Amino acid sequence: MTEELNFLPSLTGSFAKPAAENPTVEMVEAAYRHHGLHWRYINTEVGPENLGAAVAGARAMNWAGFNCSLPNKVEVIQYIDGLGESAEVIGAVNCVVRRGDKLIGENTDGKGFLKSLEKVVDPAGKRVVMFGAGGAARAIGVEVALAGATHIKIVNRSKDRGLELVALLNDKTPAEVIFEKWDGDYSVANGVDVVINATSIGLYPDIDARLALNLDSLSADMVVADVIPNPPRTNFVKDAEARGCKVLDGLGMLVNQGITGIEYWTGVTVDGGVMRTRLEELFGA
Ligand code: NDP
Repeated sequence: MTEELNFLPSLTGSFAKPAAENPTVEMVEAAYRHHGLHWRYINTEVGPENLGAAVAGARAMNWAGFNCSLPNKVEVIQYIDGLGESAEVIGAVNCVVRRGDKLIGENTDGKGFLKSLEKVVDPAGKRVVMFGAGGAARAIGVEVALAGATHIKIVNRSKDRGLELVALLNDKTPAEVIFEKWDGDYSVANGVDVVINATSIGLYPDIDARLALNLDSLSADMVVADVIPNPPRTNFVKDAEARGCKVLDGLGMLVNQGITGIEYWTGVTVDGGVMRTRLEELFGA
């Protein structure tokens, strides 16, 4: 019997590190090793000018799929054969999956966040405040709204991006979504259940950065979630913990989007614990 070796490369234009230090590669390969899966996940740097050729190559070599990161998440859509439901609504793809002879684009960022959130609270019927209106916020907003959050407030620095996300969510999901421009320290209203940082504030190397937020407005009955994976213990995470909130760090989202991607490609549900441990080693958590 021959063993099949499947390559699951990440088509990315943004990683500058060699593969051995790439956190996603390390995380996915840790799961493969742990489960004895004869699969490989490699990182390749592909800019927009070569994206079409790279996807054609993946297709020609029968790759089971690949991830793509900025700036390829939207551009890749023109080279694949279809989109999963939430990727269609979000308008961006971070995970491509070969199904039969077709390459289908999925978005696992929001799904990863949702899986992580659902471990501490069911978003159905909840009131959510989310900082940010970029790609991560878009993916999270769509999944949280489709999971039944009834009220979502988008708080963003730039008005145009904020209003665009609000319009998308009101148009494509049943949630009632409003916008507030982020000007000075934001106070979270009583009755809010979930507070999410979906901005890049706090990401390495700007680890001292803080959200413009009135910390006294956070209360112990709120769930607070940060998307920043590196470092996992951001100032937002620490400040929310100090106020007694239930806190989710960005590693949960990263690990869970990895689990979903591996499920799509291999059909195997892997242990998130080994993936988280590898990331903690890398990020010194
Ligand atoms: P984008 O560039 O698309 O969006 C960035 C967002 O952050 C925008 O809303 C932007 O506001 C806001 N922002 C950035 N700096 C500031 C600031 N100083 N003050 C106020 N707002 C600010 O990035 P993404 O959405 O793709 O990624 C955001 C973060 O999510 C990244 O740090 C990334 O690492 C993380 N992420 C984590 C994942 C995980 O698995 N844990 C998965 C995907 C992303 P404005 O519109 O005004 O510019």
